[in-house]
Amino acid sequence: KTFNDLKISSPILAAVEALGYQNPTPIQEQAIPEVLKGRDLLGCAQTGTGKTAAFAIPILQLLNSNRPQGLKRGTIRSLILTPTRELAIQIGESFSDYGKNLKLRHTVIFGGVNQFSQVNEIRQGVDILIATPGRLLDLMNQRILSINQIEIFVLDEADRMLDMGFIHDVKRVLNVIPDKRQTLFFSATMPKAIQSLADSILTDPVKVEV
Ligand code: AMP
Repeated sequence: KTFNDLKISSPILAAVEALGYQNPTPIQEQAIPEVLKGRDLLGCAQTGTGKTAAFAIPILQLLNSNRPQGLKRGTIRSLILTPTRELAIQIGESFSDYGKNLKLRHTVIFGGVNQFSQVNEIRQGVDILIATPGRLLDLMNQRILSINQIEIFVLDEADRMLDMGFIHDVKRVLNVIPDKRQTLFFSATMPKAIQSLADSILTDPVKVEV
């Protein structure tokens, strides 16, 4: 299969071609068409499998193609929660790459640095927010951002998130984002605690294991 077979829109297709990607990886081939249909996803995949594009490409396409009427400019429509700063930065770079021909804005926030430039970015308006849990909750508590209009939520590396002690932070986020949303859940391993978290936040998910 080619990216073209996955019904990816031409601005994104051009961006992917410019990166020199020849064919979709197995997780991309299985996940992208289902996410584009609006399905929830349970992805059992490690870093290196192309999982970032498996969620970033359809998110860009969905947000670009249907913008709810009356939505305030600068409303955060998709939230990607990831456990580390390094992952957050990498995911941000992927959104820059795949979304370079679109007008959607994204920004990356993480702790351990001054919040000033992150807050400035957010104030300019973002469609897609890539965040580590601590800094996200911090900026929410300061009322600098709100996530109550999220349409697509991604929980990346859920097993690491739990190992790092972020479960309560994740639950706090889940309490604030709308129940009616699309959820994409990724984990390299699926121990019982992860499976039950997945069961509690996904609705009839497509399961992809690579
Ligand atoms: P990830 O698993 O998302 O961390 O991606 C691993 C690496 O594979 C990244 O450097 C991507 O740029 C690259 N990559 C993702 N999808 C493809 C593809 N379809 N063809 C070639 N390289 C890819």
